[in-house]
Amino acid sequence: MRQSQLFTETQREAPKDEKSKNSQLLIRAGFIDKLMAGVYSYLPLGFLVLKKIENIIREEIQKIGGQELFLPALHPKENWLKTSRWQQKEMFKLKSRSGKDCSLGWTHEEIITPLVKKFVKSYKNLPVAVYQIQTKFRDELRAKSGLLRGVEFIMKDLYSFHQDEEDLDKYYEKVKKAYFQIFKRCGLAKQTFLTLASGGTFSKYSHEFQVITPYGEDTIYLCPKCKLAINKEIIKEEKYKCSKCQTKKLEIKRAIEVGNIFKLKDKFSRPFDFTFVNREGKKKLILMGCYGIGLPRLMGAIVEVCHDEKGIIWPREVAPFQVHLIPLAETSSHFAPYPVWPGSVIENTQKVKKISQKLYQDLQEARIEVLYDDREDKTAGEKFADADLIGIPLRIVVSERTLRKNCLELKQREKKEIKLVRINQVKKYVK
Ligand code: ATP
Ligand code: MG
Repeated sequence: MRQSQLFTETQREAPKDEKSKNSQLLIRAGFIDKLMAGVYSYLPLGFLVLKKIENIIREEIQKIGGQELFLPALHPKENWLKTSRWQQKEMFKLKSRSGKDCSLGWTHEEIITPLVKKFVKSYKNLPVAVYQIQTKFRDELRAKSGLLRGVEFIMKDLYSFHQDEEDLDKYYEKVKKAYFQIFKRCGLAKQTFLTLASGGTFSKYSHEFQVITPYGEDTIYLCPKCKLAINKEIIKEEKYKCSKCQTKKLEIKRAIEVGNIFKLKDKFSRPFDFTFVNREGKKKLILMGCYGIGLPRLMGAIVEVCHDEKGIIWPREVAPFQVHLIPLAETSSHFAPYPVWPGSVIENTQKVKKISQKLYQDLQEARIEVLYDDREDKTAGEKFADADLIGIPLRIVVSERTLRKNCLELKQREKKEIKLVRINQVKKYVK
């Protein structure tokens, strides 16, 4: 994409009311815009990142047999009365003109359970795993952490249905692996820890996936040896011990819960009377699991972890572009009222432009995503500052200085050193 065509601009200052690092950087770099507390628009750069995250999640959930569907966001009251969750504090409620009570979906167990019940009657139909990537609405009281806690946010929610506990347990372990793979591909392999959380009355534990960062809202107790953590709710029950190796040497860390997996067992199948006929011809309640990931929260967590004082440092797989191509012109080439002689500023500028254009085309043909900073009204300093703020993994600078050596300057966002690479080797190097 040509940067001159991008309708957004970077900003020097973050809005005063944005306290979190993720929203400050994402707003300054032109990825998101705030409509009100906890409600953000995704601008072209931000939407590219969101789509990358979405596709990683989709690929990994598809691999474990998840079938994608899309459920309504507008729900009738009746479904929520069945489970006594109509009084849930975070739920937005509304009334239609004809007086029908409705709510905006803050989760979807009450919708998916009766839906799957319509089709699944026998053990022969099991197991089933369905998921969606959809907007949730939650009347959050503390929507002050940018993308980490939205009032409107996109969630991947997966629901699985099983004939017995063994099958549920097996699938639960598969989801755990898929989740680690997702967070690894999002560049958070080192920071993500499986964390024991309360399972309510239905199973002893659920699991959270917590990303360690100083600005996380949660506190976890991490066993550095087992790489296993315990959340604040159940640390007392566990007597401040690692539940695996029993050590009391736990590290207290701030963290962000990016995902949550839960064995619901018959919590929802019971109120909806969702039974199936088992192998012995007996009617039994279906057992369920549910598994969530907040996409904006994951995007915010990536920024909380991957940034420096200059801006964002996107991990490769979620970066909006792979290459930021920056030609440095000594002057704008429009100003050419006189003949262009060899070696003049004008000629050099035209050369820089020609080589950049060619490289832009070549890289695109090689299916490499490039942001091409073709803006002619920006100084080198402004272009570099923007590139650091936006955080694309590889920066390529085309300038007259290095063209003299037939080379271009390549720099990885997270590294200090600049590499000189011969023009004809650049494409290979990038790949
Ligand atoms: P929290 O304790 O942080 O409020 P939760 O237990 O309410 O989270 P779940 O209902 O389990 O969260 O939702 C599943 C996932 O959705 C969470 O792991 C998180 O990634 C994401 N999520 C939950 N609430 C929000 C929110 N307000 N904004 C963005 N993402 C959210
Ligand atoms: Mg919550």
